[in-house]
Order: sequence, then C-alpha cells, then structure tokens
Amino acid sequence: MSATVISGKELAKKKREELTHEVEGLKGKGVTPGLAVILIGEDPASQSYVRSKQKSCKEIGVHSELYELPESTTQEELLERIDALNKAEHIHGILVQLPLPDQISEDAVIEAIDPNKDVDGFHPSNIGKMMIGQETFLPCTPFGIVEMIKSKEIEIEGKHVVVVGRSNIVGKPVGQLLLNENATVTYCHSRTKNMKEMTRSADILVVAVGRAHFLDADAIKEGAVVIDVGVNRNDEGKLVGDVVYDNAKEVASYITPVPGGVGPMTITMLLHNTVESAKRIVK
Ligand code: NAP
Repeated sequence: MSATVISGKELAKKKREELTHEVEGLKGKGVTPGLAVILIGEDPASQSYVRSKQKSCKEIGVHSELYELPESTTQEELLERIDALNKAEHIHGILVQLPLPDQISEDAVIEAIDPNKDVDGFHPSNIGKMMIGQETFLPCTPFGIVEMIKSKEIEIEGKHVVVVGRSNIVGKPVGQLLLNENATVTYCHSRTKNMKEMTRSADILVVAVGRAHFLDADAIKEGAVVIDVGVNRNDEGKLVGDVVYDNAKEVASYITPVPGGVGPMTITMLLHNTVESAKRIVK
C-alpha cells in the first residue's frame, strides 16, 4: 500500500483563491487587510520566511509592511514600534519574526502585541482561548495541520493522536487543537521513554522535532496518518522532514511531504488570520 499524499501546496492554492475573493469583498467595503511584519537582524532563514510571507500577501491583495530593524535593537525600541502598530488603523495583523536577539525577551514582545492583531496566535490570551475552545486566532502551523487532515475527511474523533515535540508554536497547540476535535492525545518529547511504542500506537502521528529522518517506517502503525512538520537540510543540502518519507509512505494511509506539505499551509493560515482580523472591522 502506498499512502495518499496530503499536498499542502495544493490545499494552500485552493484556500488562497478563496481568500483572494474575500479580500476583494473587503476592499469593496473600504477595508484593505494589512499585515505588519517586523524583522530584527539579518538571519538568512528569517529573511527568507519574511520575503515569502510578503510575497504571499501581495498575491492575495493583502497590504503588507516590513519593518527591518538592526540586530542591536533594544527591547524598548521594539515595544515602541509594536505599540505604534497596535494603534495603526490600517494594520490588522502584527507579526514579529522569531527568533529574537538575546537582549529582547520573546515573552515580553508576544505579550505586547494587541491580542486582536496577534495573527500568529502566540499571545497568552489567544492560546488560553484556544485551550478552552473559544473562537480566536489559532497558531498558524497547528491550524494548517488540522485543515490538512480535515481536507481529506479523515476522522479525528476518538482517534489516538501522538504528537512528537512539545514546542509552544507547534507540538503543544497541535495536540490541543486535535483534543478539541475529540481525539485522545499523547505527547512525546526528549524525555519520553519507549517512544517507538508510543508512535506505533498512533492513528494520527504528528512529528515536530526538527531532526532529519528522525522516525522511520518501523515507528509507524500500518494505516496511520503521518503529518511531518520538520524542515531540515540533509547532508546534500536537500530539504527533508523528520520522517523517512519513502519508507513511511509504504506503511501510512496518508502522509504529508516535505517540502510542499505543512509549510505552505502555515503561511496560508497567517493570511487567513489577517483577513479574519480585517473582517472583524466591517462586522
Ligand atoms: P523546537 O522548539 O526545537 O521543539 C522540538 C521538540 O522536539 C521539543 O519539544 C523537543 O523535546 C523534541 N525533541 C527533540 N529531540 C527529541 C528526541 N530525541 N526525542 C523526542 N523528542 C525530541 O522545534 P519546533 O519549533 O517545534 O519545530 C520543529 C520542526 O518543525 C523544525 O524542523 C521546524 O523547522 C519545523 N517547523 C516547520 C514549520 C512549517 O511551517 N513547516 C513551522 C514551524 C516549525 P523537549 O521539549 O523535551 O526538548
């Protein structure tokens, strides 16, 4: 059996077409959704993520503004910039590209963003709302993963979900969102014992570790749904996931590729959240 591929690229294309129409509708009502992106320093990976976010905004008609600040920026300077953007009426979403230089507290920055403009879904108030199942901005990568699973009409309720990784931006929230969908959720992390035993019991396995080819087919139950979040460069400089794709796809029922899987959906959900934020203005 070879698994059905869940293409994030294709789903993202479809969703972006829908968003383009929504943006046109909003513009007709006099509101252009606006996203402000703050980039500190010159980390090439962050620069590339920011460029691709800006390009995606342009494609669907969302206004975007990039604030490039030097590596030496102080926390106070950054908080002042965020405060100005919190007050700016034409900006509906604010994103501070992580990671930040050592002199700036990530927590302080995330908490300074108006939760109503927190389109990354990282603010403690939005995370709290997500936990108790209230409507809010959902963190983009986990949100995209749930959309990918639902796009194939895969049943989540009652299924055993195993999430490998417990970061605040991927592992923890994706488990929470799938719990909200009535799955039974197990988290694995660096201190987990007998991990293969855990992963082999998963009906839906989400892997977000950040190590090339961390899990092979022997860690996957026959027929499981495999969501590979990892983005890693292998020795040949090629992008690969946390899962050995060629082997895993012979065991899984559904699988996401790397690249072209979770990545394109993450940016799409950022666009979705920005458009939703602008829609709140016209409601
Ligand atoms: P992270 O903050 O580094 O978290 C990694 C998690 O993996 C941690 O919870 C860690 O456990 C766990 N881990 C590390 N080694 C392990 C081991 N040997 N056994 C079991 N668990 C282990 O990473 P992240 O931000 O969640 O990102 C994970 C991956 O997803 C990265 O490759 C990243 O590039 C990718 N990513 C992709 C997207 C996308 O849009 N495609 C978005 C975000 C992230 P402890 O907590 O115990 O340390």
